[in-house]
Amino acid sequence: MHEYSLANNLIEILREQKKEKKAKKILKVELDFGKLSGAEPFLFEEAFEILKKETEFKETELKINIIEPEIKCLKCGKIFNALSFPFLCPFCENFGGEIIKGDKIFIKSLVIENF
Ligand SMILES: [Zn+2]
Repeated sequence: MHEYSLANNLIEILREQKKEKKAKKILKVELDFGKLSGAEPFLFEEAFEILKKETEFKETELKINIIEPEIKCLKCGKIFNALSFPFLCPFCENFGGEIIKGDKIFIKSLVIENF
């Protein structure tokens, strides 16, 4: 499943961060999770909870912030929210737009415990 490989990626990133920051533990990881990322936050959380049991991140708490998409209309330039393609601008009814927010998953913050 897609979410499992994403959760695995997160664990890899946590491992790198732990090393880089010389942390004893990563207590908490907070993610900004775009609704247009193509992944399901609930499935992602489930995958992370299962996978972390086999790692040094057993006690790492995951917090997910759902980020609403923001699309910029290519015609009128207004910003709107849309959840599926093709994006229809509610202001000028033009199809198409540029995603400016909500298509990515990234780490917003990490809470670490030092030695
Ligand atoms: Zn428009």
